[in-house]
Amino acid sequence: MPAYQRILLKLSGEALMGDDAFGINRATIVRIVDEIAEVTRLGVQVAIVIGGGNIFRGVAGGSVGMDRATADYMGMLATVMNSLALADTMNKAGLVARVMSAIGIEQVVEPYVRPKALQYLEEGKVVVFAAGTGNPFFTTDTAAALRGAEIGAEMVLKATKVDGVYTADPNKDPSATRYTTISFDEAMVKNLQVMDATAFALCRDQKLPVKVFSIFKPGALRNVVMGADEGTLVHV
Ligand code: UDP
Repeated sequence: MPAYQRILLKLSGEALMGDDAFGINRATIVRIVDEIAEVTRLGVQVAIVIGGGNIFRGVAGGSVGMDRATADYMGMLATVMNSLALADTMNKAGLVARVMSAIGIEQVVEPYVRPKALQYLEEGKVVVFAAGTGNPFFTTDTAAALRGAEIGAEMVLKATKVDGVYTADPNKDPSATRYTTISFDEAMVKNLQVMDATAFALCRDQKLPVKVFSIFKPGALRNVVMGADEGTLVHV
């Protein structure tokens, strides 16, 4: 039996890159979708927020020298592209996926309407929330916290490259150890990177637990959903 009925999975755009320098790597997206399919087969309702960093970020790369809000809208459009790719791959894998956008782009994807998203989830469809929060100066981490709270997800699953929150950067300090659980307050006092500050504050205020885990570790997503010791649980 899964430990959760409804989850919000936050994937960074970079999770789709595989070993490529940018964009979407076919084998990687297929593998991630396989893992998502396994979790839905357990009866878990899955909503997804995907980033856009593999295509465009409002604060880096090609955006340097641009008006920040304009660059951020480009970043949001990048998340729409990733959402379409993800939903297409899910539909091909036999899942039923729906993309809902926070910005009006109706010829491409339907707009985000909360009751409709809830209905899709109850019908067992996977809902992909595109275009972040729909506002510049925010990130898709914040969109994950926001949508997670709105849909009553029991947990935000933040998929990263590292398999949890460590006492120090494990790439720099070999003696660093992984926290199994840590409170929001302790993570803040110790200045540990869980997600960006706005997203962190929102989850903390809403008492929405966050699980940090590695999407590159096969089976990790399933382990998290089954309540196994995987990644780090950040709790109130
Ligand atoms: N973005 C935004 N508002 C949001 C979410 C995203 O303006 O609510 C823009 C921002 O420019 C950001 C880009 O979209 O850099 C891609 O999102 P993010 O950096 O969160 O993607 P990730 O790092 O998860 O791939």
